[in-house]
Amino acid sequence: MTEYKIGTKVIHAGQEPEPTTGAVITPISLSTTFLQSSPGVHKGYDYARSGNPTRDALEKCLAACENGKYGLAFASGLACLTTITNSLQAGDEVISVDDVYGGTRRYFTRVASNFNLKFSFVDMGTLDDLKAAFTDKTKMVWLETPTNPLLKVADIKAVADYVHSRGAFLVVDNTFMSPYFQNPLDLGADIVMHSVTKYINGHSDVVMGFLATNDEALFTKLKFLQNSIGAVPSPFDCFLALRGVKTLHIRMKEHEKNAFAVCKFLESHPKVDRVIYPGLPSHPQHEICKRQMKGFGGMVVFFVKGGLEESKKFWKILKSLLWPSHLVVSNR
Ligand SMILES: *Cc1c(COP(=O)(O)O)cnc(C)c1O
Repeated sequence: MTEYKIGTKVIHAGQEPEPTTGAVITPISLSTTFLQSSPGVHKGYDYARSGNPTRDALEKCLAACENGKYGLAFASGLACLTTITNSLQAGDEVISVDDVYGGTRRYFTRVASNFNLKFSFVDMGTLDDLKAAFTDKTKMVWLETPTNPLLKVADIKAVADYVHSRGAFLVVDNTFMSPYFQNPLDLGADIVMHSVTKYINGHSDVVMGFLATNDEALFTKLKFLQNSIGAVPSPFDCFLALRGVKTLHIRMKEHEKNAFAVCKFLESHPKVDRVIYPGLPSHPQHEICKRQMKGFGGMVVFFVKGGLEESKKFWKILKSLLWPSHLVVSNR
């Protein structure tokens, strides 16, 4: 599907018509076990944790959207993080961004750190802090750009080049841009990951994670871990995510349009101190954003004048109809 644009990929990639009926929509395949004509001889599936046709279609579709050869889906974004981290050995070190997603930091510092892995968190606006934190034991760099919540941006290509020069691998959490606005594998990342829960599924009814890579050896290792750890998504959720992603390109354009309108309103509001959005020239890494992103996404950060008390007052007077808890509650 490499010759097609993303609007075609989300609808067709990995989704061959079902051979027995010709159904163009991938069926929900619920069977956990598959016929073997003799021991070990089957049609590509034996047990549904190891492989499932609905999940396969989704993995192929999302990999194509990220210009990746291989894709793997997980029961959540954090299950994807856990599985990638399990590819490391006790004694290895990991460097991440200082403003990384709260759940990622919690897993690193309060769970994985119990298994003799060491984590540090640095600003990646430039390479200085990354270089200072790197040791010969650093095996993985976990980047998120733009970060959740403060929308800090790092130069993916520059980070990838440095990480590779030190023999480590780079993961980029691309959740905030979605494959529509940014493709980290094209910029040198070894693995791109997503919380499918957010833009990719896009309908607030699935929790899921996904990764893509072009590195066959890395894929083989991660596929082994996906099966060994077992944090796989359900076929029903894979069906919903396949359905949700079909409108990704249309939703992202609209999100961006709305974000610019919200920024314009907030920037001229007398009670707003500061607005952060990658699409604004005032964003400290706006030039990098223009270079490595195909758009600026739908997330906007702003600071209410005054401080915590004024911010609390602001939250209280908001009409509380549609605020998903993961967007407003810090889970550090
Ligand atoms: C939500 C989120 C995650 C975690 O994904 P879950 O699907 O909630 O497990 C990871 N990274 C970012 C940037 C997120 O927003």
